[in-house]
Amino acid sequence: MRYKEKVCPKCQTKHKKRGPYCSRSCGNTRKHTKETKQKIANTQRAILTNGSDESEVRKYNYISKRSHGDPDPIPPQVLPYTPENSFLQDGDLWFEDK
Ligand SMILES: [Zn+2]
Repeated sequence: MRYKEKVCPKCQTKHKKRGPYCSRSCGNTRKHTKETKQKIANTQRAILTNGSDESEVRKYNYISKRSHGDPDPIPPQVLPYTPENSFLQDGDLWFEDK
């Protein structure tokens, strides 16, 4: 499928790609109004505070993005099940000799 030639509103480059912008970096320069930003914030807050497991993970990841302070420790991996003749200790899976 071909798109008609158009001029990128950001850098004035001629292109035949989908959408008005020539590249991802140009498309990402869109400015949001204060009202739009508030709507995005409200939605984010609603998602982060709805109490589901996913919201807890998102909230944790969001807080972990802070650039100051020590990084959060990575918890040991927990398998959803333990195979036969094995046990978990110190976050590692151990197999018992038969
Ligand atoms: Zn461009």
